[in-house]
Amino acid sequence: MVVVMAPDATEEQVRHVTERVEGVGGQAFVSRGVRRTIIGLVGDIDSFHGLNLRSMPGVADVHRISDPFKLVSRQHHPDRSTVWVGRAGHRVPIGPQTFTVIAGPCAVETPQQTLEAAEMARAAGATLLRGGAFKPRTSPYAFQGLGATGLEILADVREATGLPVVTEVVDARDVPMVAELADMLQVGTRNMANFGLLQAVGESGKPVLLKRGMTATIEEWLMAAEYVAQRGNLDVVLCERGIRTFEPSTRNTLDISAVPIVHGTSHLPVIVDPSHAAGRKDLVVPLSRAAIAAGADGVIVDVHPDPEHALCDGPQALDGAELRALAQAARQLPPIVGREPAALHVRA
Ligand code: PEP
Ligand code: MN
Repeated sequence: MVVVMAPDATEEQVRHVTERVEGVGGQAFVSRGVRRTIIGLVGDIDSFHGLNLRSMPGVADVHRISDPFKLVSRQHHPDRSTVWVGRAGHRVPIGPQTFTVIAGPCAVETPQQTLEAAEMARAAGATLLRGGAFKPRTSPYAFQGLGATGLEILADVREATGLPVVTEVVDARDVPMVAELADMLQVGTRNMANFGLLQAVGESGKPVLLKRGMTATIEEWLMAAEYVAQRGNLDVVLCERGIRTFEPSTRNTLDISAVPIVHGTSHLPVIVDPSHAAGRKDLVVPLSRAAIAAGADGVIVDVHPDPEHALCDGPQALDGAELRALAQAARQLPPIVGREPAALHVRA
């Protein structure tokens, strides 16, 4: 941490800062420039926060040098992590060596629809199945998902197709039930800052897919991941799914720069959800290509056997032909950025 003193700060004010820092066990290194004095602090950053340095007389500014998140930071963990999803006998990686495609319906509607979507996903080379049983909808009148019945359908479809299941949990009280049947727990954009839910998934023993809040900064998103990690769960995959901007052509604006920025600051894998970012299917393949080129560790996309009659997010759901176009991009482009398809890496 660095304290910048005001140009007219007095020697006494500088001494006051150094004494307070030393008083909490830190060290203060004073460096005097032509116009300003700056003080470098070394020691426990949390104890410095308690000092209220910004409000001390003569202090102009305080800068943090290290990341506010620790467990998910790359500063303390330079190697990028791989998160394995699935059960004994069949685990799928999400991480730096591979490019992972997760596909499935936005919502589980019926056993038949879920099975057909999963078969489309598998045929195209996806290695994980997505599908919402608990749907966080903006309108309380919209389809809310099948709940526990939807989880059972997902478990049956996993049995039939072999694809491990990623599904959202919206309430901390449901975490044990969802963790029992799912292979990866998704925390959606609307719940990124639901700290009780983050702690509950942190204790679930299952990998977590943490979507970026639609109005969250990258730092806030990483702090949310830190909540999960702090409960002992480092199996967190981050998902960029678009943020709110003034541009109305898409539902949200995919912040593609988040991918390399997060890779620079965190060791956690980052995937992209072009379906929920754009809200329209014609952009899903181009945005997936952009995600691959930017170094994303995978994509998660909506598919539906009959998008026209989907109960949720039909306009963004890919049909079979469109999913095959995505699969082609997911086969051809990752080698250009030094990756292989995830299907090659499935392990027992
Ligand atoms: C979803 O993936 O089904 C979903 C609701 O996504 P988001 O939380 O990003 O809107
Ligand atoms: Mn959706």
